[in-house]
Amino acid sequence: MSSSSPPDVVVIGGGTAGCVVAGRLAERADRRVLLIEAGPDYGSRTSGRWPSDLLDASTLPTSHDWGYRGPAAGERALAFDRARVMGGCSTHNGCTQSWGWSGDYDRWAASGLVGWSATDLLPHFDAATERMRVNRFAESEVQPFHRAFVDACQAEGIPRAADLDSLDGGIGVDVSPVNIVDGVRWNASFAYIDPVRELGHLEIWHDTSALRIVIKSGRVTGVEIIKDSVMTVVSCDQVALCAGAYGTPEILMRSGIGRSEDLASLGVETQVELGGVGGNLHDHPAVTLEFDASSELVKQLDAFRVEHGWLPEEQALAKVSSASSHGPFDLHIYPWVEPRPDSTTGWAAIVPVSLLTPASRGRLRVGPDGGVVPNHAYLAAPSDRASMADGLATAQRLCAGDQLAPLLGTRLNPQQPDEGIDSWMTRTHSHYWHPAGTAAMGPAERGGVCDADGKVHGVVGLTLADASIFPEVPRSTPALPVVVVGERIVSSMK
Ligand SMILES: Cc1cc2nc3c(=O)[nH]c(=O)nc-3n(C[C@H](O)[C@H](O)[C@H](O)COP(=O)(O)OP(=O)(O)OC[C@H]3O[C@@H](n4cnc5c(N)ncnc54)[C@H](O)[C@@H]3O)c2cc1C
Repeated sequence: MSSSSPPDVVVIGGGTAGCVVAGRLAERADRRVLLIEAGPDYGSRTSGRWPSDLLDASTLPTSHDWGYRGPAAGERALAFDRARVMGGCSTHNGCTQSWGWSGDYDRWAASGLVGWSATDLLPHFDAATERMRVNRFAESEVQPFHRAFVDACQAEGIPRAADLDSLDGGIGVDVSPVNIVDGVRWNASFAYIDPVRELGHLEIWHDTSALRIVIKSGRVTGVEIIKDSVMTVVSCDQVALCAGAYGTPEILMRSGIGRSEDLASLGVETQVELGGVGGNLHDHPAVTLEFDASSELVKQLDAFRVEHGWLPEEQALAKVSSASSHGPFDLHIYPWVEPRPDSTTGWAAIVPVSLLTPASRGRLRVGPDGGVVPNHAYLAAPSDRASMADGLATAQRLCAGDQLAPLLGTRLNPQQPDEGIDSWMTRTHSHYWHPAGTAAMGPAERGGVCDADGKVHGVVGLTLADASIFPEVPRSTPALPVVVVGERIVSSMK
């Protein structure tokens, strides 16, 4: 795209939602789209250039990480993995694809977000499911730890229910639907960018960072970028900002859109004061029961690997309910196995519990030195701790039952003598990698940053589409709902 012929739309961020937006726009013959991605683009699925760790769906790669860090509930710092590569987090995530609960989306619609009811979103879920090639493991492909987990849940009264890809499910356990094709993680770039690479409507500038959106008199006029160490401005009057729950509020603040005190501390002139930018940051908090894999489990895993040629680490997922759940379920238990040097058998079995409806809300700050510090305020709300404790009790019963106990050795992260559950949670909790809400849809006076079509309040030409626009993170693993965000928002872009 030459500087004399500016693109019709610049999409910032070739991540999960950004690929959907850029890909769908580029399907339209009248549109020239420039996609700016900070990380590398390895080309199409068939290019032969994709690093094997990003393709291998059996485990979580860390080779293309942004390196964010921020506070846990106690004094510790936690790492917040985010992928810096085409496909974004869909290129390094766990491939679990669940939809959530209709009541959450219907509540958004009832609050005034037109086009976000479960019924409105169904066609987008169907399109996302098809494009991401979501499929199910055959029973014979379920590895022994996950088979035992499903059995343990059923023995505990949690029904087997194949409804993770439905908006109407209740409590239940199943082997999760996945976007894995022949062992390959089917990322959003394969799903949405590959089909349009040869059409001539899309240009991708990879290894290129967007610094800020240039706004004059309330209208977008360009994007300031850094490419090959050179700073330049790309002229355009339409931008789709899809840089994720951390990147999107950062770029908004650098562009003069945000809370005045945040903008002042950055030395940025205010274009539009929107207090919600960077606020409402939340995530699904998690606690894990960690065990040595027993030698029996290691034997079974080895046999599975030999028979199948690979060993999926994650497969099963249970939806359970705490005593204070508002809705049919509010917790996930999602076990996995992993190689672990501190385990006597070389493998650990992990049984995590995560709260899907956290009340705690934090804020993302951008330091004057440019550093982004996400503070999710994990477990700040006492109700979050109470719900997590309920989930832990369920997980402990599952681990003690006949199905799982023989597969589990010594507990690797026990409570200390005299340590209460609360301080153990503070000391050990982690997260489910699902940050959201930092540029939420909703009216500005209620902390909203954009409308139901992702249009930023007070700026002409700026649309948001990624996990930052969720008013609340869905009661699900969010990758597929984020693809749905891309589908829903692009459907309303002219
Ligand atoms: C380790 C891990 C495991 C997970 N497992 C699962 C799972 O099994 N199932 C599930 O449903 N969800 C899972 N998730 C969560 C899910 O993948 C994310 O919620 C979702 O992919 C987020 O999509 P997004 O479009 O909002 O952001 P992203 O996919 O992160 O996309 C943002 C993109 O913007 C780019 N970008 C950022 N800043 C700039 C800039 N200044 N200039 C240019 N480009 C920029 C980034 O490089 C990135 O490509 C997991 C997440 C992680 C990290």
